[in-house]
Amino acid sequence: MKIAVLSDIHSNLVALEAVLASLPSVDAIWHTGDVVGYGPEPQAVVERLIAAGGVGVRGNHDDAAAGGASIESFNPDGYRAMVWTRRHIDEGARQYLAALPERLVPEGSTFTLVHGSPRDPIWEYLDSTPAARDNLGVLATPHCLVGHTHVPRLFRESGRRVESQVAGEDNVVEIDGRRLIVNPGSVGQPRDGDPRSSYVLIDTAAATIAWRRIRYDIVATQSAMRAAGLPEWLADRLKLGR
Ligand code: ZN
Repeated sequence: MKIAVLSDIHSNLVALEAVLASLPSVDAIWHTGDVVGYGPEPQAVVERLIAAGGVGVRGNHDDAAAGGASIESFNPDGYRAMVWTRRHIDEGARQYLAALPERLVPEGSTFTLVHGSPRDPIWEYLDSTPAARDNLGVLATPHCLVGHTHVPRLFRESGRRVESQVAGEDNVVEIDGRRLIVNPGSVGQPRDGDPRSSYVLIDTAAATIAWRRIRYDIVATQSAMRAAGLPEWLADRLKLGR
């Protein structure tokens, strides 16, 4: 089975289309949340993801867009963008976001999907080895997919240690007996210094997970954000990958 895993699309339709166009034939598309927020096309991104058959979990931005209290924890730019987002999705999209589960183990799979972390699925930023060790300890499946930090990354058990690696383009890890946590990076707002969209491909027959980077028309997304009156820094940062 081949599975594409997308995360943190953040209402960036141009990036989502570029990623979908780049996919080989896959059996499933999974996402680890933050479908909306920050970007200019929340409604179209929700509709496109549903049309593509994507299944996944709820991020803090999805929760806020659906009316949740997560919005109270946002920084000023994120807050402004979220108020705008709430006004630019219809009731169907709102219900879709509200119905996303906090955790998901797709049928027959060895992967748990969460946005933040296994122990705190909406909010924890899994960005350190100690946090990864604690979360590997509470994981109910051998493997876990997360999002939220927008940084492509691998944490893996190695004897009594936990390996940590920021994953570059074309990094491949083998799925073996060891427990691991994978962050595919962000489709719509990468923050690892590389502005290209990031995602992973899982091949269960080959037992591999591979990271991919895809160029998209950043200027088109920035133009749409400026036309919508979204905060300038949110448009600027797309070019920087920060
Ligand atoms: Zn995010």
